[in-house]
Amino acid sequence: MADDLRTRYMQAAATWRAHRETCEPCRSEQHCPAGAPLYRRLADIQDARIRRIREQGGNR
Ligand SMILES: [Zn+2]
Repeated sequence: MADDLRTRYMQAAATWRAHRETCEPCRSEQHCPAGAPLYRRLADIQDARIRRIREQGGNR
């Protein structure tokens, strides 16, 4: 399951980067209507990854 989360993260990051490269507002952190959900999705997945790492790190 961790690998699945990682795959989704890589895909979301690649999609976001590809959009940002062609989008002036997103490059200056003024997310356009098309870029905002891409960025939001990446941030959500990143949060989930951090939570999982914290949970795993809490085992000791
Ligand atoms: Zn954009």
